[in-house]
Amino acid sequence: MASTLDSTDATDRDVTTIAYGTCHHDCPDSCGWIATVENGVAVKLRGDPDHPFSKGELCPKVNHFIDRTYSDKRVTTPLRRVGPKGSGEFEAISWETALEEISAQLHIVIGAHGAEAVLPFSGAGNQSVLAMWFPYRLWNALGVTRLQGALCGAVAGAGVAMTNGTKLALDPEELAHSKLIIIWGSNTRLTNRHLWPTIEAARGGGARIIVIDPIRTITADEADQFIQPLPGTDVALMLAMVHVIIRDGLQDHEWVAAHTLGFAELEEHVGEWTPQRAAEICGLAEDEIVALAREYATTRPAAIRTLIGAEHREHGGMFFRTLACLPALVGAWRDRGGGLARSVGSWTDLAIDHDALSRPDLLGTREPRVLDEVRLADILTNSELNPSVHALFVWGTNPMVSVPNTELLRKGFERSDLFTVVHEQFLTDTARYADIVLPATTQLESVDVTPA
Ligand code: SF4
Repeated sequence: MASTLDSTDATDRDVTTIAYGTCHHDCPDSCGWIATVENGVAVKLRGDPDHPFSKGELCPKVNHFIDRTYSDKRVTTPLRRVGPKGSGEFEAISWETALEEISAQLHIVIGAHGAEAVLPFSGAGNQSVLAMWFPYRLWNALGVTRLQGALCGAVAGAGVAMTNGTKLALDPEELAHSKLIIIWGSNTRLTNRHLWPTIEAARGGGARIIVIDPIRTITADEADQFIQPLPGTDVALMLAMVHVIIRDGLQDHEWVAAHTLGFAELEEHVGEWTPQRAAEICGLAEDEIVALAREYATTRPAAIRTLIGAEHREHGGMFFRTLACLPALVGAWRDRGGGLARSVGSWTDLAIDHDALSRPDLLGTREPRVLDEVRLADILTNSELNPSVHALFVWGTNPMVSVPNTELLRKGFERSDLFTVVHEQFLTDTARYADIVLPATTQLESVDVTPA
């Protein structure tokens, strides 16, 4: 839960309060913090020692969060563009004027082209559930174009679900019970640092830690074994592991028979994926692959830990689809501390009633078109699109630096017949192309709910 700061009116001067919150970064750790607030101004931020996962430690990414919150570069009032799109030339206007102009433009666009000419484009922003989902009430009421997909996380979830039938996976804290932990394509000590003590505790209990990564990371440096396949060859390594496990009869026959489908097809598929072939593709020694497969199949409980790094490449979904075959093959799911641990976002999704927040019932019988979020550049520049997008609302994201094909996207944002509203804390690369910029709060300045 993020906090509210006291206002500095005459009634609360010289008041020091404590506010609790959750880190706003899109990070698996979701650290809890405590802000000391003096006269309505946050003066100190520290980790919450009672937060069960982060236990009071924040990482350097939030060292300057208070400075950022009170930066003189913040957008603190609505802005209207006065220069060319992208120039960053704006004038301050009142909220009333901004809302009137936005409303007038919406009426013009919808009147001329229909509601589907309006496109909302959002991201996780402060990771705040209300800020993410509440605006969709308006969009559903209007019946505007919707987007599907995500720039991050969706591919990994889809890949795992193709094998397991669900995106849900092992709670990473269960790694404490593992005897073998394979960290595959994740730099835990840097990007998921609060999980590392759990992994170290498992090692203290006798677990071996193997890191598989094309890059020698600081996590690889602390592993008992580091395996470094060439970039983009992980799936070949996984298939060779499956090959060895089946060839050597190390699969969990009972588990496979009771809980899986398609074993015969898998066996046939991996027939050609010999360790020799994978060794050539991956740049590894054949013996190393065989030993890895055998150790994984014969150690219990055995866990694989991955996050989303591998999805950020072509065919990234196959990494997760193939990886998820391994614990099913060896019956790792039998054991506490065995299985596949990945993003816990799909667990928190279960706890959130998105429909209650976004109210799709407001659509009634309308079924607006659905476009692909990743293709925003195409969407804004495709003259064949009917209707073209003429009003774009951006919040909680900075597509000019996160969406593929930046140059094409820039052309889209530069269109003179596109009315763009950006809700932002700073004048970002995207906000510079807005017709109207609306100021957004940081996590320190709003009350919201953050999954953690
Ligand atoms: S580890 Fe992650 S959640 Fe914790 S403070 Fe750093 S960025 Fe935020």
